[in-house]
Amino acid sequence: MPRVISKNHIPNLLIHLKKSHDVFAPMEKEGEVVFGNVEDPTKVLLNYKTTLLPPKIYFLPPEEELFKVTNGRVQEEQLNNKFVVFGLSRKDLEAIVYLDQIMNKKPADTFYLNRRRAVTLIGVSEEEVGVPPGGDLILEKISDRYYRTLALTKKGKKIADLEFFEEKEINHKAKSHEATSKLDQILLDSELIARAIEWSRENYRQIWEHLGRVCLGCGICTYVCPLCYCTSTEDKTSFDQTVCSRCRKWDACTLPGFAKIAGGHNFRPTQAARYFNWFYHKFVRAYKEFGRAQCVACHRCQRYCPAGIDIEKVLEEIINAFQKAEPERKF
Ligand code: SF4
Ligand code: SF4
Repeated sequence: MPRVISKNHIPNLLIHLKKSHDVFAPMEKEGEVVFGNVEDPTKVLLNYKTTLLPPKIYFLPPEEELFKVTNGRVQEEQLNNKFVVFGLSRKDLEAIVYLDQIMNKKPADTFYLNRRRAVTLIGVSEEEVGVPPGGDLILEKISDRYYRTLALTKKGKKIADLEFFEEKEINHKAKSHEATSKLDQILLDSELIARAIEWSRENYRQIWEHLGRVCLGCGICTYVCPLCYCTSTEDKTSFDQTVCSRCRKWDACTLPGFAKIAGGHNFRPTQAARYFNWFYHKFVRAYKEFGRAQCVACHRCQRYCPAGIDIEKVLEEIINAFQKAEPERKF
């Protein structure tokens, strides 16, 4: 018999979790959906398109102090409490699983991994989940009133065993998975994308030159992407020079200074080169390293790009040009 939770009990579940954890969830703020600390569980959104910033903010914060040295003594940043991120979408869960793989690659990012160990991830899906993408527990909507539990880990099972859940046969099924976007379909063939991008570097330069003129180099596409993880580090010294902190913050390869080194040389001096690099990393390097594109088709980069650049259209155009120019290639 499936374990289910009634929609009315979800705020009670969140109140219960808040007694022992910090709980973060999607909610509306100034016209956008954002992840935030749950103060009023009735304000938590179960059905939304996408949040502005992805949940990576909880494992790879925009800015953090890694360690500090005080009079020669090194002190690492300590994680405070265990925490819960509730209401994750399928795509965000998928991105976290992929980001785990990236961060586990040697040398592993221990700061990221410590946070991942401290978190419990609870997904909420308004439609049928199919193969669960990851996380600890997923609540799958099966009727207007009930969500079915899919417990994937011990942590998830412990939550699904709480008194807010019950065993109940419901004569409804989850809504079938809605049609996927064109970007989802394009991503099915990571090899084709990788080859087309590689080919475009020399053979379809006009698209990168055009995008280089349009792109503002603001870095927003990187910040909102659940799978971009570039950071830069800097040391800060206290005024009396007794404390030195090693800090890191998000960086973006589309920013003009990203590839600039001491002496002023810039390895990617044009916006075209920088924007190409963003694509190259996501679709060529990632394919070579992990066998798949570093994109889950969340559409955040397209939605928040101030220059209106649409990743789906860019990929489509490059792939079409590649297939037209190289028709004899078999894919
Ligand atoms: S968000 Fe748009 S304008 Fe800003 S760096 Fe990315 S592609 Fe360029
Ligand atoms: S659609 Fe854009 S923001 Fe979303 S995962 Fe892909 S590259 Fe990142």
